[in-house]
Amino acid sequence: APLEFAVTKNLAAKSAVEREEILKNPGFGTAFTDHMVDVCWSARGGWHRPRVQPYGPIALDPAAAVLHYGQEIFEGIKAYRHADGSIHTFRPDQNAARLQRSARRMALPELPAEYFLQSIRELIAVDGAWVPSGEDQSLYLRPFMFAKEAFLGVRPAQKVAYYVIASPAGSYFKGGVQPVRIWLSENYARAGKGGTGAAKTGGNYASSLLPQAEAYEKGCDQVVFLDRDGNVEELGGMNVVFVYKDGRIVTPDSDSILEGITRNSLLQLAEDRGHTIERRPVSLQEWRDGVASGDIVEVFACGTAAVVTPIGALVTAAGEEPQPSGELALSLREELTDIQYGRREDKHGWLYRL
Ligand code: PMP
Repeated sequence: APLEFAVTKNLAAKSAVEREEILKNPGFGTAFTDHMVDVCWSARGGWHRPRVQPYGPIALDPAAAVLHYGQEIFEGIKAYRHADGSIHTFRPDQNAARLQRSARRMALPELPAEYFLQSIRELIAVDGAWVPSGEDQSLYLRPFMFAKEAFLGVRPAQKVAYYVIASPAGSYFKGGVQPVRIWLSENYARAGKGGTGAAKTGGNYASSLLPQAEAYEKGCDQVVFLDRDGNVEELGGMNVVFVYKDGRIVTPDSDSILEGITRNSLLQLAEDRGHTIERRPVSLQEWRDGVASGDIVEVFACGTAAVVTPIGALVTAAGEEPQPSGELALSLREELTDIQYGRREDKHGWLYRL
């Protein structure tokens, strides 16, 4: 049965004028809508007390397990406004399933997919006006779940909270899509074999902050991580894809990377165009050899936030390795964003009207 949400309207909600001012130039992740969704879970009572309430601080016991042991997971998904004013999200069933996989790995309860969908619909029902209509703009939704039980023993928490907050997002690239410079992390790993790399959990991002800071110091935008055998994993928040001269598209298959929904969707579109897709380990050596021989003709990164970003250079302590640039990454990007914004037929049924 669906949850029965109790809705408490935010009496201090932003005015339409204030909201429109924010939506003109929302940036990323700094402005938030007027409401949030909050559902409780306990080992005894299951999912209960579903609420939509004013956006604001959360009171937590200082002993809440999340603050000590990081038992936490999250998702990232966007809502898009179409030209007719309607609001859609993209493959939310995939995010619901990934949240469940993350939950399993982090010993958190699995949120039923229908509750996930309902939580997003409930938030959009009150905050739909926050979905911007400018080019490449969207409302970024951030569902997350954490251990709130006050208990310092190390075991799965018996009290958990699930929230959804939302943040208007502007165009990721001002002045057009720019190739990025990627720093090769040779001293730090993001995840290990059997670890939590495939889960969307805070610790993976905490461990990427220092190498990411190193990347900035070296004048790079992002870090690429390897596994201990020298295979390419992913960036801090994006998957990596290699395009070969013969039309093959190769992307790392690893149980320690996050299975990106953007990557899966782009590869499906490429397959529709006749490309062959290979999901298998890709070594740094193969990457370098492929670029040197001309077999690799494009390298790009992809994820919900930036959609597709061509990789312009791989940077290491030894120097800079320029990367070839082609047309496919941007052409796939356009096809995908056309579907998301309702400008092109959604032949796979990926859109979900909110
Ligand atoms: N890898 C990592 C580590 C990420 O954080 C993300 C962003 N969620 C991705 C890949 C891309 O995933 P998606 O396409 O589902 O956004």
